Amino acid sequence: MFQRMHHHLLGLFYPNLCGVCNENLESEEEHLCSSCLCSLPKTNFHLSPNNLMEQRLWGKVNFHRATAFFHFQKGSPLQKILYSLKYKGDKEIGEYLGKLAATDLIQSADFQSIDCILPVPLHPNRLKTRGYNQSEWIAKGISTIINQPLDCSNLKRITDTRSQTRKNVYDRYVNTEGIFELDSNSNLKNKHVLLVDDVMTTGSTIESCIHTLNRVEGITVSIFTLAIAT
Ligand SMILES: [Zn+2]
Repeated sequence: MFQRMHHHLLGLFYPNLCGVCNENLESEEEHLCSSCLCSLPKTNFHLSPNNLMEQRLWGKVNFHRATAFFHFQKGSPLQKILYSLKYKGDKEIGEYLGKLAATDLIQSADFQSIDCILPVPLHPNRLKTRGYNQSEWIAKGISTIINQPLDCSNLKRITDTRSQTRKNVYDRYVNTEGIFELDSNSNLKNKHVLLVDDVMTTGSTIESCIHTLNRVEGITVSIFTLAIAT
């Protein structure tokens, strides 16, 4: 009773609103109301080997499993969430959804052997303007639930791909080779690494990350994104 009253009193000063519909949240809800949360389309790809996401990466890079938490569609509630996560400073919603996703992930034996979690890094220039890496916040949530370390320093983005938008497709393809680099002291040998990004669209960023990671002896790479454009 007291807790509930406390929640309501607090709500007068710091209203807790759903990130999609802007309605007041109940005391047990975080970031999203239950009806908005339930409306988000889960892929359950972690339970389906050879899923659509894996098919997109076949023949391009070596990996163990790939999964996305949700299907992404333009104009959907999820788009609003991803926009807040990326451009409105709402890092915490990334961490929250990372935690939710990880409770699903651990139901699949394929994701139980993860040794460390690597967010796709931003180029230092972009990190400076945004102030945070949204994928790192998703990865942080996953790390809490699966109880394996977050590694934000071994993989580095050495090319700022924003400057590539005017180049043609061929140039861009060639350029994916030199986008990421591993720290020379990286200790990923024989590890099962979970690479984490916010959205998979064409998959080219993820591909170039995996190209770099595949150079490590004995490494196993799996991929998680919050959403996949299908
Ligand atoms: Zn809502």
